Amino acid sequence: MISPDTPVQFLKGVGASRAKVLAEHGLNTAGDLPWFFPYRYEDRRHPTRIADLGRHLDDPVLVRGRVISAHAKVSPVKRMKIFEALLEDESGGVKLVWFNQAFLSDQIKRGDRLAVFGAPKFSSYGHLQIEGPDWEKFEGDEEEEGSIVPIYSKIGNIPPKALRRIVAQSLEIIPAIDDPLPENIRERLHVGPLAPALEQLHRPPELTEEFLYRRSPAHRRIILQEFFTFQLALRVRRATEEVKKKNRKIRIDDSIRDEVRKILPFKLTRAQKRVLKEIADDLQSSRPMYRLLQGDVGSGKTIVGLIAAMIAIRNGHQVALLAPTEILVEQHFQRISQLLDHSVVLAKATGSATPSERRTLIAGLRDGYIQLVVGTHALLEEKIEFKSLGLAIVDEQHRFGVEQRQKLFAKGETPDILVMTATPIPRSLALAMYGDLELSVIDELPPGRLAIKTAVRASSQLERIYKFLDAEIDAGAQIYVVYPIIEESEKLNLKPLKLGFEAIRKRFPHREVAMMHGRMSAADKEATMQRFKAGEIHILVSTTVIEVGIDVPNASIMLIMDADRFGLSQLHQLRGRVGRGARKSYAILVSDMESGRLARSGGASRAATSQSSGGTPDDGGRDGRSPEKERLDLFAETRDGFEVAERDLQLRGPGEFLGTRQSGVLRFRFGNIVRDHELMERARDTAIDVIDHDGVARADEIVRRLLGAEMETARD
Ligand code: ADP
Ligand code: MG
Repeated sequence: MISPDTPVQFLKGVGASRAKVLAEHGLNTAGDLPWFFPYRYEDRRHPTRIADLGRHLDDPVLVRGRVISAHAKVSPVKRMKIFEALLEDESGGVKLVWFNQAFLSDQIKRGDRLAVFGAPKFSSYGHLQIEGPDWEKFEGDEEEEGSIVPIYSKIGNIPPKALRRIVAQSLEIIPAIDDPLPENIRERLHVGPLAPALEQLHRPPELTEEFLYRRSPAHRRIILQEFFTFQLALRVRRATEEVKKKNRKIRIDDSIRDEVRKILPFKLTRAQKRVLKEIADDLQSSRPMYRLLQGDVGSGKTIVGLIAAMIAIRNGHQVALLAPTEILVEQHFQRISQLLDHSVVLAKATGSATPSERRTLIAGLRDGYIQLVVGTHALLEEKIEFKSLGLAIVDEQHRFGVEQRQKLFAKGETPDILVMTATPIPRSLALAMYGDLELSVIDELPPGRLAIKTAVRASSQLERIYKFLDAEIDAGAQIYVVYPIIEESEKLNLKPLKLGFEAIRKRFPHREVAMMHGRMSAADKEATMQRFKAGEIHILVSTTVIEVGIDVPNASIMLIMDADRFGLSQLHQLRGRVGRGARKSYAILVSDMESGRLARSGGASRAATSQSSGGTPDDGGRDGRSPEKERLDLFAETRDGFEVAERDLQLRGPGEFLGTRQSGVLRFRFGNIVRDHELMERARDTAIDVIDHDGVARADEIVRRLLGAEMETARD
């Protein structure tokens, strides 16, 4: 008798060495094995007659027959060891071919009865054959005959059939596995009990379309269990942070309203008003705010954050605004100084502060003299203490992680946290990534913005582009040129940037051209940026350091080299750097991915293009465009950041958005956070419900059970 706790070693077919291999994959007990799901299935119930194989070209089918002859040989062409067998049933014969598996001559003999599973193909001599099929002898070994066979991913050198037998034994104990989801939660999630789901995932009664698409009730049960665990864990963590209710009382009275009205240089958009109300409600509530404010580049998030800051400050609390780079800190600092006009004591915190500046800062924050501080990660240092941190605003969230958030949290008494991001995250992803944040979205741009004209060009057109740049500079414009060098990487290869910089400097000898990248000191970067802002630099050649939040109204052209190497959302960020002033603005994406125009323009140039890109003429899409080109063209047509983000998500998957930050956390076995986002929503709603109705302690208990129930490999 085996139970869920029986070590795998006591299963039939598992000795010490297999037990070790299984353990390396997180499979320690019989109870772990049912969570080791097949990644595909083979329907071996309906053998195909050999005479009918021609109708199943390239389509894996089951054939049964007797081996008429079998021998190993060496292929004359490729000098490869080949094992061949001729299999015959009552309708005809077919050749089976295995490459580099000479050992099969010991295993497959004339006279054996075989079931083989593989795709028939034509050999180079025009004969139908099956190459490298799965095979099984079926005399005295018929358990897998006529069934749907689960295929598991390889574990060490355990042969597939042995692995199937090991897992099959463990299925006996399924009825003894405790369902970690209580019935009332199953009802809320609309899923059934665990046992039949596990059973079906290993032994599906039928391979329906729903099942193959991983949407069967059994799959949904697992998907929702995982999503729910994730959501509930996030919520529990947050609720634990929240146990202490806020003890500050925030009031918004007429004097605050008046003051806010006075600092406002413009009328807020409807969307800004709406999110401001959401934030104000949070500030006044007895629980700390934890809100994500999303808004496209230029949608006006800063002013919303600043008004929230005023509310906290006028209620006697300090506010910290965190930005990812010193340049942004500088920019925020200046803009806020202008707007607030000395009515608030403002300070700056960056890594490049002098020791004496630092001492002043630390003292000012500790005794509460400084009311609003704008800073980089330097603000998170241990030395930095606040008298009363009431609100922390994190700008451009995607560079901040959970730990940083927790550090911030520890700097105040349950401060309110507002996270602002200009990377529009598709709703489906936002839920998964930030399941524990409330969402506010500014989905409207301030009036009067001119559309940015976006064009995709080949590098052969660079000279024409340069002429255009020249004319625009004459008319007073400033220009960004961006090279695809990933700033986050440790080993920056700056060569392409430097070469590009030199080339542009040569091409524009009478213009002021400067270069900027992440390797420069903060002071140098800042000095360069200041010169650019002051109009002293015509062309700024850089990496994506300028990606986030920079505001130079006079810069009206964004030229992006090798644009195909960027994600669409990143391109959108870059494009958002222009179009901030009155000048007509342009984003020019340079890419040599085969364009429709080139591909169609006749034999010679077509051959040249496809050769230079190293692809075959058929590489491109149906109209001759490569997928990259198509992607850029789509981008050029789309203005709305959320739409860009959705497209990016469909084209490149969620990695782009998740970055390294969450990639480990967001791996689910069957659940796909994009496709299954409505299930994620259901899981989130249920998690909120459980916390509200059953309390945090009970929720915590459920999370622990759920996490314990899952096999370790789920998150390896
Ligand atoms: P982002 O959301 O990208 O951070 P910002 O807050 O930097 O956007 O705002 C972009 C520009 O739009 C700024 O110059 C800001 O002063 C201006 N702005 C913001 N809100 C409005 C508004 N309601 N009406 C007019 N201009 C606005
Ligand atoms: Mg901003």
